[in-house]
Amino acid sequence: MLVLGLESSCDETAAAVVEDGRKVLSNVVASQVDEHRLYGGVVPEIASRRHAENVVGVVREALEQAGTALSDIDAVAVTYAPGLIGALLVGVNFAKGLAFSADKPLVPVHHLRSHIAANYLAHPELKPPFLCLVASGGHSHIVAVEDYTRFQVIGRTRDDAAGEAFDKAARSMGLPYPGGVYLNKAAQGGDPHAFKLPNPKVEGAPYDFSFSGLKTAVINLIHNAGQKGETLPVPDLAASFQAAVVRALSDRVMMAAEAFGYKTVALAGGVSANSCLRETLSQQCGEKGIRLFMPPLSLCGDNGAMVGAQGFYEFLAGNRADFTLNAYASRPIDQ
Ligand code: ATP
Ligand code: MG
Ligand code: FE
Repeated sequence: MLVLGLESSCDETAAAVVEDGRKVLSNVVASQVDEHRLYGGVVPEIASRRHAENVVGVVREALEQAGTALSDIDAVAVTYAPGLIGALLVGVNFAKGLAFSADKPLVPVHHLRSHIAANYLAHPELKPPFLCLVASGGHSHIVAVEDYTRFQVIGRTRDDAAGEAFDKAARSMGLPYPGGVYLNKAAQGGDPHAFKLPNPKVEGAPYDFSFSGLKTAVINLIHNAGQKGETLPVPDLAASFQAAVVRALSDRVMMAAEAFGYKTVALAGGVSANSCLRETLSQQCGEKGIRLFMPPLSLCGDNGAMVGAQGFYEFLAGNRADFTLNAYASRPIDQ
């Protein structure tokens, strides 16, 4: 079964053709990152406009690269939530038009479910149930993936998402957007023990995260040094901050795996591209005899292939939308 996956929840206009939820036939991503970098972050109004300009070309290219015509496609899957509402609406409305004109079923896909499904494209042996750490620009969850379309959130962030904390800390260090990527690079030459940063816990919620205190601690360090006319070494700051975020993420996911008896753990979302997180979890899972799955770097960020993959499983579960489908800025993964 061929699914066309469409993604427009943030600043990537993306389309892909995926076979049976597992095989990528094409994966086209038009990123707007260079334009948003001018403003230090995603400008929603610009994102919507660029999606509207790019979507036709991106879908056409995805079909062409896959060697398929629209008539060969068995379903159109689209990200409908969560994300920037104006950005999501472009993809949703385009998918509706496509599905209607080609007389194909329309499948609504939750963005975080699709981040998790990126793993299915690279790891044929991965099947639910497993535990997944979803860490992205807007979300940080520990999710029990009970089945392809059944999820339970075990832990979540109480404030900033991990990616958001990376981006804000990076900005305070004078690094370009998207900060997580540049902070990861800067940290490579730094000492992770150079600065002592808090390891915040959420009272009574052992699997929940809190990153805003960590971000504020870094901002305060920089500010206080600045008042004394000093500048702090960015590589050391970046390495210390990264180590603190990775510790918070990896400690909790390992604790949850043990408490809930999971022998399989997966990583998902943009932050799963972080080299320190990948190394730390690989080592910790290795020591505990837990199998760890991570998306390849090319599938960590937003893309259409992951939507095609999850769309296949949503279709099998009978999840279809009619042409009243709407977009939602926020919507829980387990609803
Ligand atoms: P969401 O998926 O929550 O809706 P999003 O789609 O904007 O948000 P993603 O595309 O999944 O987010 O991920 C982008 C985030 O990942 C950004 O915050 C970015 O800084 C972060 N990120 C990307 N690469 C790295 C890296 N190597 N290290 C740390 N963070 C990274
Ligand atoms: Mg993006
Ligand atoms: Fe995302």
